[in-house]
Amino acid sequence: MPELPEVEVVRRGLERWVVGRTVGTVTVFHERSIRRHTAGPDHFADLLAGRTFTAARRRGKYLWLPLDSGDALLGHLGMSGQLLIRPAEAPDEPHLRVRFTFTDRGSELRFVDQRTFGGLAVEPDAADVPPAIAHIAPDPLDPLFDDAAFVAALRRRRTGVKRALLDQTLISGVGNIYADEALWRTRLHYARPTETLTRADAGRLLGHVRDVMTEALQVGGTSFDTLYVNVNGQSGYFDRSLNVYGREGEPCGRCGTPIRRDPFMNRSSYTCPRCQPRPRRAHW
Ligand SMILES: [Zn+2]
Repeated sequence: MPELPEVEVVRRGLERWVVGRTVGTVTVFHERSIRRHTAGPDHFADLLAGRTFTAARRRGKYLWLPLDSGDALLGHLGMSGQLLIRPAEAPDEPHLRVRFTFTDRGSELRFVDQRTFGGLAVEPDAADVPPAIAHIAPDPLDPLFDDAAFVAALRRRRTGVKRALLDQTLISGVGNIYADEALWRTRLHYARPTETLTRADAGRLLGHVRDVMTEALQVGGTSFDTLYVNVNGQSGYFDRSLNVYGREGEPCGRCGTPIRRDPFMNRSSYTCPRCQPRPRRAHW
């Protein structure tokens, strides 16, 4: 599943290749991909045709492209979604769901999604933050993110620290991989009760979350020079720099202790049992 740095790479690609262009036609090949646009594909296409994209924005893993009409095209990549910029003559992808042409007759924007968990919709009055995603907290790479407010809110929670990091109403865009990496760097166990964190602990954790994401973004950002905006859903380009995630049984880079994997919320948590000892009182 694409995590925030990958989605930010897509946003930058859209900013570069799509903003300022005027939509020609929109063709929906699979209605499930616009299921959140309840008025249907014709309505979806009518709201977009002839409109110009004015910006490319992101909150957490949601992307939106404001239009000169005041509406915005809102998108989520889900598990396998891709937004591709392709030459008009390029053959259709097997899982092409929505095609956008532009009045300049240049490259097309294509939404490709094998598993169709992602989707697109046109949101009204969405030049600022679309109402549908207003409940989602800013992410730590967002200039609007309030560090002091996050630290205070985290310490008021009564939950395990990793659950808090995955709570999109507290902080958005932190997926399983980046949570595990940031906790390892901070030497915190995932079940550590948030109410026992000092302000300094919480501040260090936030710093590591931001560092991990920024590093991933720098690595991922190298791939968008080409005329191809892509999220492959694998986070593959960051795998080499992971310290704990997916490394069960391998030695901890700090102390050599084998990395441990525990089941966590239908997924896994990876820790160094020595650097990140389980707290005596744990929150799940
Ligand atoms: Zn260790």
